[in-house]
Amino acid sequence: MMRTREQQIAEGVAHVQAVIAAACARVNRDPSEVTLVAVSKTHPAADILAAVAAGVRHFGENRVEEAAIKCPEVNKHLDIPVVWHMIGHIQSRKARDVPSLFQVVHSIDSLNLAEKLSRSLAESGQILDVLVQINVSGEDSKSGLEAVNWEHHATVRQTVKETIQQIATLSGLNVRGLMTMAPIVDDAEQVRPVFASLARLRTTLSEDLQLSLPDLSMGMTDDYPVAIEEGATLIRVGRAIFGARN
Ligand SMILES: *Cc1c(COP(=O)(O)O)cnc(C)c1O
Repeated sequence: MMRTREQQIAEGVAHVQAVIAAACARVNRDPSEVTLVAVSKTHPAADILAAVAAGVRHFGENRVEEAAIKCPEVNKHLDIPVVWHMIGHIQSRKARDVPSLFQVVHSIDSLNLAEKLSRSLAESGQILDVLVQINVSGEDSKSGLEAVNWEHHATVRQTVKETIQQIATLSGLNVRGLMTMAPIVDDAEQVRPVFASLARLRTTLSEDLQLSLPDLSMGMTDDYPVAIEEGATLIRVGRAIFGARN
């Protein structure tokens, strides 16, 4: 018998939850410390509702235009709203649309963007949970604050520190932690140092700036078990739940 789309999604969710549990068990973490953000970009509202039925409560989108259509469509079908996470680069002119759609932004990649978001929140009095995106791998294609080799470069470290300190003073934003995207590799073990580096940067910043930075957003379909072993609290998983994107 052919499985329905709903069954496929439910199986994807169950599989990911089992992998999360196994990864947590390997490093003595409680699975409740890891939030699964199902990355629903390019997939229709019906797929998101199927994932909700399978127990998912957090969804990630990477384009404001797409979210502006899908989020309201999904929300209107639900009594208990889900949590929407913005995980993609935000263009300046789109910043003011973000707070009405999303509860968490993972992709704060400049002070300028943070200031724009904070200003757009000032009128409503709303507070947005945010993570600062960090480029620890050094790939040019990755956005985020430049932090390659931060452990060996005092100036790199200092710039990151000062930028995050300034973001943390903005009234509309609650800085929850750091996010990174690892490079695409054949073997997930190759990106373990990237995740470990982000985790150490979090500890350093937290101590130096006296900020509680509870969250680490890292890990996607190909590498989330490794990210969990290195301390991820938010994993952003798309294909393992919804299948390949067109
Ligand atoms: C698309 C995307 C993901 C999910 O990727 P998968 O490989 O489908 O799990 C995670 N994070 C970001 C920032 C993305 O754009």
